[in-house]
Amino acid sequence: MREIFLCKYGEIALKGANRSSFEALLVRELKFRLGHVGRFNIIKSQSVIRVEPAEEMTSEQLDVAYSLLRKTFGIVAVSRVAQTEKDFDAIAALAVEYLGEKLEGARTFKVETKRADKRFPMTSDAVSRELGGKILSRFNHLKVDVHNPQVLVKCEIRDDAAYIGAGQEQGAGGMPVGSNGRGLLLLSGGIDSPVAGWMMAKRGVKIEAVYYEAFPYTSIEAREKVIELARIVAGWAGSIRLHIISLTEIEEEIAKRCTEDYFTLLLRRFMMTISEKIAIDSNCNALVTGESMGQVASQTIQALHVTNSAVNIPVFRPCIGLDKEEIVTYARRIGSFETSILPFEDCCTVFTPRHPKTKPELEKVIAEEQKLDFAALCEKALATEEIITVRGIED
Ligand code: ATP
Ligand code: MG
Repeated sequence: MREIFLCKYGEIALKGANRSSFEALLVRELKFRLGHVGRFNIIKSQSVIRVEPAEEMTSEQLDVAYSLLRKTFGIVAVSRVAQTEKDFDAIAALAVEYLGEKLEGARTFKVETKRADKRFPMTSDAVSRELGGKILSRFNHLKVDVHNPQVLVKCEIRDDAAYIGAGQEQGAGGMPVGSNGRGLLLLSGGIDSPVAGWMMAKRGVKIEAVYYEAFPYTSIEAREKVIELARIVAGWAGSIRLHIISLTEIEEEIAKRCTEDYFTLLLRRFMMTISEKIAIDSNCNALVTGESMGQVASQTIQALHVTNSAVNIPVFRPCIGLDKEEIVTYARRIGSFETSILPFEDCCTVFTPRHPKTKPELEKVIAEEQKLDFAALCEKALATEEIITVRGIED
């Protein structure tokens, strides 16, 4: 019995003249990812991508491939199916063999047929009916339930072959990574920024990341946590180049020379400025942060204006309109939540003012900033840069 995967893509199908370049990106990404698992043939046909093992594979290898496919942006649904010739008896025999165990353990089922090859002599309805009859005569404890079946037997008759599976699983959706430029994600150890990076990657943006630490105020565990978060996001978004920058001197200078109420805003303007420089040097077209409207004092509309004004490149904040609960739901789906809630301090929380300005005026912030040698401090921070490449969990 030969098992393969059928991957359906969503939005790419609407891309008209550009469609083939999106498809090519997706196929390239799949080849790269699956290359770590084994040899696969990846074939575009009739609006799906067929992924077929090109060598003997264990079911564990196929499990890993299945999981990778469901984490590849650009694919909306994946079915794991068995393949046979386009002959009704062969199809019926395959359904009993491939789904036998599932059907044995169920009480109800339903057959759904899709006939993409219109030359096949039976209609979809006829295939469903006859196949249902065969299954009932083989497993006589079963009943048909068309509304809420425990097992959905899906039969697809396509140009190349016939396929049997038990329905499809949701894919990651979105657009193939790399189809929409590059973004530099400001990645902290919190819940929000990994979600923000994932959302941009979902829309086809290749992610690079920067993490600001302030050793010894922040720990090595805090750094390891961020690397782990980058690895989790990379499981979806592909490998991530992570820049690590020390803000220790900047934080100490701010604490020494500036008014406490402005500490966080000043620090955030340093982060934005240094990030813009890294973005330009790494060919990134935008910055990405995990800010959400009104979540904390530095995320009011006035505070965001102050941070934004530090840079000239676009800043995307995909979590801006989400409630914490909604961000948490995403974080759980992505797999980052449990790591994000590990209790290690962030460089921002070390120097948190007691009374942060919630409606800061830009001129006052700039006046505070002028108490420091801003450009020189940015240069010195950039000189501490370390870069590591983080690959996805399953690569
Ligand atoms: P998160 O959950 O992502 O940490 P947050 O709600 O705690 O976000 P802040 O700490 O105010 O928010 O930070 C806002 C955004 O600034 C973060 O989402 C992240 O994009 C960026 N950021 C904050 N701290 C750091 C850091 N140490 N390194 C890199 N980026 C950071
Ligand atoms: Mg944070």
